[in-house]
Amino acid sequence: MLQFGKVADSIGATSSKLEKTRLLAEYFRTLEAADLRLAATWMTGRPFSLNDPRTMQLGGSSLWRAVEALTGLESEELSRVYLKHSDPGDWASEVLQGRTRPTPTTLQEVGAAFAEIEEASGAAAKVGHFRALLERLDPLAAKYVVKILANDLRIGLQEGLVEEAVAAAFELPLKTIKRVHMLTGDLGETAVRARAGETETASIELFKPIRFMLATAVADAAEAMQRVGGQAWTEEKYDGVRAQLHRTGDRVALYSRDLKETTAAFPEIAEAAEKLEHEVLIDGEVLAHRDGKVLRFFELQRRLGRKLVSEQLREEVPVVLVAFDLLYLDGEPLLDRPLAERRKLLEGLGAEHPFLLARFETATTAEDLDRIFDETRERGNEGLMLKSPESAYTPGRRGMAWLKLKRPLATLDCVVTAVEWGHGKRRGVLSDYTFAVRDEDADRLVNVGKAYTGLTDAEIATMTEHFLEQTTLDRGRVRMVEPETVVEVAFDSIQRSARHRSGFALRFPRIVRLRTDKTPKDIDTLATVERLYQRFFGEDTRTSLAEVAEAAD
Ligand code: AMP
Repeated sequence: MLQFGKVADSIGATSSKLEKTRLLAEYFRTLEAADLRLAATWMTGRPFSLNDPRTMQLGGSSLWRAVEALTGLESEELSRVYLKHSDPGDWASEVLQGRTRPTPTTLQEVGAAFAEIEEASGAAAKVGHFRALLERLDPLAAKYVVKILANDLRIGLQEGLVEEAVAAAFELPLKTIKRVHMLTGDLGETAVRARAGETETASIELFKPIRFMLATAVADAAEAMQRVGGQAWTEEKYDGVRAQLHRTGDRVALYSRDLKETTAAFPEIAEAAEKLEHEVLIDGEVLAHRDGKVLRFFELQRRLGRKLVSEQLREEVPVVLVAFDLLYLDGEPLLDRPLAERRKLLEGLGAEHPFLLARFETATTAEDLDRIFDETRERGNEGLMLKSPESAYTPGRRGMAWLKLKRPLATLDCVVTAVEWGHGKRRGVLSDYTFAVRDEDADRLVNVGKAYTGLTDAEIATMTEHFLEQTTLDRGRVRMVEPETVVEVAFDSIQRSARHRSGFALRFPRIVRLRTDKTPKDIDTLATVERLYQRFFGEDTRTSLAEVAEAAD
């Protein structure tokens, strides 16, 4: 593990991508298969591969407790060092200096300790195992163990560079590595296959989830039309959760966007899938609906992550799967077929409720696209996807074959109530703002969201100074500030939320600009938020599912 730390440190020390790849490839070449599997996964900043169902469930406070117990340092001292780094790994390595009993520990031993932490039930047991692991590590190794558990190495190594390093290490074309990675959804497995020269056999295997194809955002209809050139195939963009359905004659499974199995949360979809007459892999979006209407995302949340769904919940929040792609049919992978052909095959399945087909329509001008967009919004959907009918399905890629067009629902003027120290590039500056609107009835400010600023670096630096002066309460990471700074916030949607006192949370908020021309007296009110919510997300404005299904024909 110490060697992993040394390599990771030297990768972090160079800004040259070429050099990072070279160092990593060199390291990968020295590893035997079992170590390589772990190292390739960990170098992407995650303890388990993307399609591994396990999650660590070890939060920041557990991490803190383990380090606190091991070092015996006062929490004030720990906070002081943390603020210096704003990175859990760098922090841990400094405070653990001279406070561990380093013994040589292999990657596989660390892997076994990760499994132990994951399996332990309850925070106290997890903290205990974690502390034991830290205790036997050199601070440099501990630094990277903590970074892996915090899901971010911060050494400028995106997944793409790890793929490049695997390709370089085993002298294979990058294209081959990317393909195996797309199909397996597992960089560790990809590296092991590359090492053994077994890259040709990779194909779709049902019940091994593949990574989802992603879309690139476009700003407006004009940009969208310019990118697609001539004609745009639009699909309604549904605001639910992405799902991949795998079905054979004797088994059905659903996987979420992070490739975890979610079958148990959606039994009605699994039951209906059993009745399909084909072996399939369908890509789509799960939506909640009742009495023919799409329900708010808030309702769907009640179904997410469930291991067991009661009859009552099934009745209260029934779900459908809006299918938009077919990636495998009766033994044949369809990834390389054009979308138009995949769509025909999807329609040919004749799947019935709770399966629906995504509504699609063709636009030839930007005006057309604007009209379709407005109609989509009227039906209560988020926006539009624009897809190239000739395109192949490229798992895991955010390319130009799929574009997404969302527009801010509205902007609101809000006042900043708290600020937080940023991470990575934003380390050392106050870059996350919590903001509020005015609740006129109660005459108080109520928070409606938190966002990274969309401000320039120079503005953020100035605002950091400003907020340091405006701090009323310093809680370490978070500072409460005088509610005087007005910002304009754009967002895509509103949901009910118990997290904020307002009862609402803006979804995907971003700060558009500072409103130095405004004072807190001028900010928007809770009544406005409520009105927007009712207008766009109230019961009666939601899409009728009959409409969705009909339009899909
Ligand atoms: P975003 O989450 O904003 O990056 O948008 C991409 C997400 O939109 C996908 O991951 C899907 O969950 C969702 N989505 C909704 N409708 C569609 C559709 N018709 N095609 C593809 N993705 C869709």
